[in-house]
Amino acid sequence: MNRVEERAPAKINLHLDVIGRRSDGYHRLETIMQSISLYDRLLVAANKNRGDRIKLEVRGKELPADRDNLVWQAASLMMNKFAAVKPGLEIVLDKKIPVAAGLAGGSTDAAAVLRAVNRLFDLGLSRSGLEKLGAELGADVPFCISGGTALARGAGEKITPLSPLLNQPLVLVKPPFSVSTRQIFAEVSGRVDREGASASELVELIEEKVSISWQEGWHNALESFTCRLYPRVCEIKEKLESFDPLHVQMTGSGPTVMAFFDEKRRAEEVKKTWSEEDDEVYALEFVK
Ligand code: ATP
Repeated sequence: MNRVEERAPAKINLHLDVIGRRSDGYHRLETIMQSISLYDRLLVAANKNRGDRIKLEVRGKELPADRDNLVWQAASLMMNKFAAVKPGLEIVLDKKIPVAAGLAGGSTDAAAVLRAVNRLFDLGLSRSGLEKLGAELGADVPFCISGGTALARGAGEKITPLSPLLNQPLVLVKPPFSVSTRQIFAEVSGRVDREGASASELVELIEEKVSISWQEGWHNALESFTCRLYPRVCEIKEKLESFDPLHVQMTGSGPTVMAFFDEKRRAEEVKKTWSEEDDEVYALEFVK
């Protein structure tokens, strides 16, 4: 095997509570994450050129193709840790996931590089081994190693896998601006009072029913902070509510808003009728 391909799915936060702040300044979170059917694609090969040890090509979106890219950082981490990877890596990143959108685009790419290098060089790393390496790159990377449905705690890096949820069609609306996660957390001073159910209550429900009952108080504690700085996010929420979905919520620190429907056909209809041309709109599903 001299080249491997990995799909890197985006993630959404079905629920997010901020439960405090650590002494290192990071916020402590409890969040339920879910992978969805919007993918970046990575091609990873051993580098045959003697020159650059990491060669990265980015297609599809404007992003740095150097050490500022999480893909580069993941490649560099693997080269430093494992002698077999020393000659270097050639990587093509085909980017479809909107950037700085609350969809963990960079983290899922980094996780895909770790999986790809593990396969390509037969390193034999386990899931938890890959998760530990991922935590060195960013708090959302450990979830993205296996994806699916999971509870994440700590700064987001402590993962408890959950039973896969029944598929739930959804629409994503991403307005034409980005939101920096750091900027939103700077607005959050510590614990945020909980409005709905706790993550552990929702986890119990997931494990009992394997489907989501939207009456149970799912929410994202970052939403009000993002809406204060970017009122358009709440305008999108209101507009999505008019389509009579099961639930509407922002993902991560935004600005992407998601609306859940019981049928795929309804999600497709909303995508077709969405009139704001500058927004990116996707009709998607959960993936395991
Ligand atoms: P999260 O939900 O984990 O907070 P996000 O979806 O809000 O993440 P990303 O798309 O991961 O945000 O981008 C965050 C920042 O990371 C951007 O400013 C971007 O320039 C940088 N970045 C570095 N590498 C990548 C990558 N491979 N894909 C996307 N962004 C990247």
